[in-house]
Amino acid sequence: MSIETRTSIVWDYAPAPESADHIRVRERYGLFIDGDFKDPADGRYVPTINPATEEPIAEVAYGGPDDVTAAVESARAAQPKWAALRDLERAKYLFRIARLIQERARELAVVETLDGGKPLRESRDVDIPLAAAHFFHYAGWADKLCYGVNAREVRPLGVVGQIVPWNFPLLMAAWKLAPALACGNVAILKPAETTPLTALLLAEICQEAELPPGVVSILPGNGDTGAALVREKDISKIAFTGSTAVGREIQAALAGTHTRLTLELGGKSANIVFEDAALDQAVEGIVNGIFFNQGHVCCAGSRLLIQESVHDEVIGKLWQRMGRLRVGDPMDKNTDVGAINSAEQLERIETLVAAGEDEGANRRTIACDLPERGYWFAPTLFTDVSPAHRIAIEEIFGPVVSVLTFRTQAEAIEKANNSRYGLAAGIWTDKGSKAFEVASALKAGVVWQNTYNHFDPTAAFGGYKESGFGREGGPAGLRPYLQVVR
Ligand code: NDP
Repeated sequence: MSIETRTSIVWDYAPAPESADHIRVRERYGLFIDGDFKDPADGRYVPTINPATEEPIAEVAYGGPDDVTAAVESARAAQPKWAALRDLERAKYLFRIARLIQERARELAVVETLDGGKPLRESRDVDIPLAAAHFFHYAGWADKLCYGVNAREVRPLGVVGQIVPWNFPLLMAAWKLAPALACGNVAILKPAETTPLTALLLAEICQEAELPPGVVSILPGNGDTGAALVREKDISKIAFTGSTAVGREIQAALAGTHTRLTLELGGKSANIVFEDAALDQAVEGIVNGIFFNQGHVCCAGSRLLIQESVHDEVIGKLWQRMGRLRVGDPMDKNTDVGAINSAEQLERIETLVAAGEDEGANRRTIACDLPERGYWFAPTLFTDVSPAHRIAIEEIFGPVVSVLTFRTQAEAIEKANNSRYGLAAGIWTDKGSKAFEVASALKAGVVWQNTYNHFDPTAAFGGYKESGFGREGGPAGLRPYLQVVR
């Protein structure tokens, strides 16, 4: 392994910390059931911590099986009335939620960063605006549902259970709740154990928006809470985003039942750089593809495929660009790479990186002063990677990119598709026809051309193979929440 020093920074930024004085975080949050915060049946509260400092932020209730049942009962009571509302009335509530997210955007961004470790620049400029945009988008669909499904007559499913991970806590909640509610369903959302806070602020927003009790329930907890939700009989659909291993467990648990399921799972997405690409632009896309949100991104461009003729040039430019990444305090507005979300995730990253070294790949990690407390991993580049290495196959879910090379377009396609996953891909080329040809040969749910990690509520997102099934976003995101009557 080589750890190199920063080279060409000849000036530095002054510290630009965002203040947390304006946020309103309670000392303790209950479970949001029937429109109110309630104590859990077994009285269990657990602190949620800031991964950048390891300091506790608030105590949060853990939902147990009795709490899950209480949430389902309240949801069942609420659903017929919610579905019977005029479509425009349902839209009105979604618009209100979107506007309230915008009003509390600064506070939500700070809480997202404190609870999850992502740079404030990202929570402020990506997570929170996109969460609001999803509610706006699906508010617009609420009175046009049949047009989203080829002019068929449709009905809501009923009560839906939604389980989200810790990498985009509020945004994933919005991806799930907005289409479900627009379609006339009511929802029970289980946020991830390490990042429950913005979902609980969203519960306050639901109260402020005067959403009828039971339409949205928020049940923080751990994997057992999620598993209890999956086991509930009166749930019509489970929507899950997270690891392939848990997705598989959920699929097995629901096999043979009438509960519908959509899974948005992991990925090992190929970011392909052809020799005719604008290389400086491609390097920015590679950095955004893998170091955005510390690489805790299901569609991260973690397998970088570079055409052999430009390999050295791209790696040179990339390494230089990586040296300028600012790693550290996520609350500093100049930080590019923040804290790793949890001690467990840091351990998973370290294990896979060690495997990469053991298997003979060449590791380079940028040198930077990491804070003494908290969970950190400096941006890392692996070259001389073979397709059989674990770091070329498994999802690392951290700021680590594995580089492979190819000679021809056909080889690029074959290598990109040589994965058990199929979530996303990026293509960097100057030739439009090549981009379309390659994109149509890739087995990936989303293919970006000359950009990466570009999200939009109007576009469908989802995977093939072990990356899951079902689509979220745009009109395609309505289908999993509707049954077609005629
Ligand atoms: P998980 O799949 O374990 O967690 C995702 C969500 O599912 C969380 O809310 C979790 O709860 C919940 N959950 C856990 N076990 C069960 C269960 N048996 N039944 C129902 N729900 C359950 O992801 P991890 O956080 O453990 O991350 C592990 C790996 O998964 C990462 O290293 C990464 O590779 C991948 N991952 C992929 C994501 C993606 O977007 N595709 C997102 C997150 C992780 P709780 O948090 O309380 O345990």
